Amino acid sequence: MKQINLKKHNIVLFVLFIASINLYSATLQPTFPFKADFNTRVAGYLWENYPVTSLTLTNADDKAYDSLEVRFYFNGTQEEMSISGDENDTICSFGARTEIAVLYNADGYMNSLSGIREQVADTKIKRIADSYDSKSKKYCWYFPLKLTSVQFNPMQRLRIDLGWNKINPFPPYTDLLNQPPEHLPDSQDWSWGPKLRSENTLAAFEGVKYIPKDSIDSPYFFSLQTNYYVAIFRKDSLLWGFPFDWKNYYDDSFDTIPPPVPDPMTYDLIRVPFDEYEDQLIRDSANLKISPFRVNQAGYRPGDTKFFYYVGSSAPLYKIIKLDDNSTAATGTGVSTGSKASMSLKITGCTDATLEAGGTTRYILESPVYSGSIFEGTIPDLPEGKYKIVSGSAESSPFVIRHDLYNMVKDALLKFFGVNRCGDSKSWFHPPCHLQDPVTGGWHDCGDHIKEGATLSYTAAVLGLASAVFKDLDQDIYDADHSITHKTDGIPDILYEARHGADFILRSYDLAGGKPADMITSVGDFGKDHMWWGRPEDQDNMPVERGGPPRAARNEPTTDYLGKYAANLAFVSKMIRPYDPAYADRCLNASKAIYEFTLPRMDMTNTPAYSGVTDVSPDAAFACLALLWATGEQEYLDDLCYDKSIGTRGQNNPKLFQGGLFTSHDQVFYHGATNTSLTSSQAHVLWGFFRLVLDDTSFCQKLGLSENDRLSLIEKTIFNLMANLSSVALGQQSIQLPENGIWIPSVIKYELPWFTMHTQMEWMWNNYQAGNITEMYYYYDIASRIQGIELPNTPASTDWKADEVKTVLIRMMDYMLGVNPLDISMIYGAGNKNFNHPLHRASNPELKNVPGRDYSYRHLVGALASGFSPSIDSFAEHANDYHSSEVGISATTNILMPVCGLSIVDRQVAADKKYPPVLQRQLFSVSLTSVNGRISLKASRPIASVDVVSLSGRLIFCQDFCHSPKTSLAISSRGPQTLGRGIYLVRVRAVDGTLAVKRVAAVQ
Ligand SMILES: [Zn+2]
Repeated sequence: MKQINLKKHNIVLFVLFIASINLYSATLQPTFPFKADFNTRVAGYLWENYPVTSLTLTNADDKAYDSLEVRFYFNGTQEEMSISGDENDTICSFGARTEIAVLYNADGYMNSLSGIREQVADTKIKRIADSYDSKSKKYCWYFPLKLTSVQFNPMQRLRIDLGWNKINPFPPYTDLLNQPPEHLPDSQDWSWGPKLRSENTLAAFEGVKYIPKDSIDSPYFFSLQTNYYVAIFRKDSLLWGFPFDWKNYYDDSFDTIPPPVPDPMTYDLIRVPFDEYEDQLIRDSANLKISPFRVNQAGYRPGDTKFFYYVGSSAPLYKIIKLDDNSTAATGTGVSTGSKASMSLKITGCTDATLEAGGTTRYILESPVYSGSIFEGTIPDLPEGKYKIVSGSAESSPFVIRHDLYNMVKDALLKFFGVNRCGDSKSWFHPPCHLQDPVTGGWHDCGDHIKEGATLSYTAAVLGLASAVFKDLDQDIYDADHSITHKTDGIPDILYEARHGADFILRSYDLAGGKPADMITSVGDFGKDHMWWGRPEDQDNMPVERGGPPRAARNEPTTDYLGKYAANLAFVSKMIRPYDPAYADRCLNASKAIYEFTLPRMDMTNTPAYSGVTDVSPDAAFACLALLWATGEQEYLDDLCYDKSIGTRGQNNPKLFQGGLFTSHDQVFYHGATNTSLTSSQAHVLWGFFRLVLDDTSFCQKLGLSENDRLSLIEKTIFNLMANLSSVALGQQSIQLPENGIWIPSVIKYELPWFTMHTQMEWMWNNYQAGNITEMYYYYDIASRIQGIELPNTPASTDWKADEVKTVLIRMMDYMLGVNPLDISMIYGAGNKNFNHPLHRASNPELKNVPGRDYSYRHLVGALASGFSPSIDSFAEHANDYHSSEVGISATTNILMPVCGLSIVDRQVAADKKYPPVLQRQLFSVSLTSVNGRISLKASRPIASVDVVSLSGRLIFCQDFCHSPKTSLAISSRGPQTLGRGIYLVRVRAVDGTLAVKRVAAVQ
């Protein structure tokens, strides 16, 4: 299926001339299935007695193009075009010279086009094979105008005037000044002459007019007909027009689908202002300008203190402008922070890694160095709306003030899980993939296509926890594939995604006959998979050595994976029960069996893809917590925090646990110098224990816990959580927390100006900092709920510092969304600017290393950029640099919890009537059958017109049904006559303008 751009020719640029153009469009309506939308005008004029052709080309498409080639077609004899006239002579005498070459920007300003003159002077005319016409003794030729170096952006206009002349037959083929060629372009030429639809061609055309030179660029010029016979190619692929040999390009059978009606996503207010398919070069250009204002580009919540930075030489006097009416909402002056910032950005865009590992360079962009002192400003509590900050010529990215700001960020984040869904799983990003896997489904690991137990189990467990704790804000916003928000699937979105994980785990469990020891926990071979760069849906067609089937079925039944698999199943079992009790039972039974199998083993997997696991007790504890909550059975409570045969390291310290999984590795349940991420789930388990169990008094009563037991466990939980936070302390700034009585200091430390904490690696820096944000949120959440409550060893007057922690937590989140050295939002899809070169095969074709199956860049909504440590002063963005370009499901997972935590519950979305009804993207399908020289046609929608053209281009049948649209009809050539034996192109237009072109063979 090819998707065809059916947009009508865009005439926005020439608004003054709309009236005259309409006269023509009423008769033409050229809705041809071109791959790109260009608006062309051609006219000729004479200058110094030799002929000049003036071409004006407007990019009416919504994306940019490079490497275009415009072909002008001539009909000429060998004598006219070559030196000797010999049949085999390829030495040309026909050439061109550039008279004018200008590129107009969308705003009307001119750029000169460099390099065009030289290229045109060197260009030779080409003869099309098999084009000889014995009557006229002419061949068809084309002159390729190469625009190799021209970046042609949406709404830009090119004007190129070519003077045809005679050229020196030998390099460098310079033109022989003022010597007109033997061949003078006239109406006998394919590109120039009048044509009628009834005569072998697809569009009626009155021919290129010769007009006075001064009339070029006048309203009259723009009222001339579009010339479809000047064709536009890119890398030998036809994008637009009907060349002489158009049958070579249009003899494919293809359906067309109308452009989808965009469904307004609930995060539209904060979404990045580019189309998902916008070219990377256009996106990158925006990133090169780093604003002195660094704001949270998504925005701020009312009630929070709203900070921003300004990087410059002196304190700015700033205005906060409300964008809907340009009014000044507030003013202020920045305050020096005493810190400085300096940053520059270098971006390398690639096209192809077939010849060169790491990609062939397409362009390199470099920003200036932006440096200065950092001043801090605050935004007062303003009415909800969209704003920007300005000072002189400097302005910030726009941002919103909204109570449901983080619900929008959450909706964007969730889409990334859909991107990485594997199997036949309604991904919005790609067709079904890896259907021959030993276990289908699950999620692709990162930007590759393998399914790794390490990332899969972590994602599944945390999504399960999120769906359980955040059930009041987990709404059913999306349909299953995240592309529609009006038609929904009936299941809250986080739960839907958690269940997608459960599907994979259950499939593996069932395949193993219910024996956890035999479960397939990962799929694919790391090395082979990474050898190949292409779309996921294509990998099943690859050989084994390029990651094709059969993909490795890896059996790693260790606690690090199985613990989190069991956790996911138990969370999902309780949450899904109201929707599907039988499925809930399967989940719960499998979860119990997996937990029982793995608890005595406490083992771990070493994989080349991931390392760093030293302690699997949090993985077992994750499963134990989920089973405790799902079943309400006391044995899981014992396993988690009392059983001294499981936990042998407990100390007699009232602020620490005394037994169970919480003390099986160490007397403190903490991760030390690793961050919360796939190897360290301690913070998730502690917080989940508080929110799902301890904060629910009636649940605790059912478990047989006295109120004093409950409060004692709350105390242990928060002090253990504190030890985790304290172990990632780094920097001069500190928040002193209540004394814990152990050797780990009870303090939060961070560093200014970017609110950084300890991260275990520079690689995927944002992922580890997101783990820190998660812990800050967990601490804040518990602290704010227990403030004023007397715990057994902590008086009610204790200040847990919840508000101070919240302020820092939000500023850490501000960093992720734009308050950072590069003025870029690290969450793809959200904010004003994102990185655009992710190491992600489904999204980014830059490193494609096999011929064919070309695809376009598509933006990865919801991914957390890998990022960089903000201590650097220059950043080089390149898809192949995995340290800073990698994205993955575990990174998005790592920032999901604080984003949910800052969201509001019961957001009113479904009832919001401002969204128009969604038109389902529907295939216009046409089926054809040919019997005895008659074609029968059935269409899925009413037909407005049908044309049948023979392969030689002769129009056989043409009928309009506008007044009585039909969905089925029979065609013969004329009345009772039947169609002759042969191949025909049938062009069917539906009443809504959608076009389908199909090929059919008629036999007698
Ligand atoms: Zn897949």
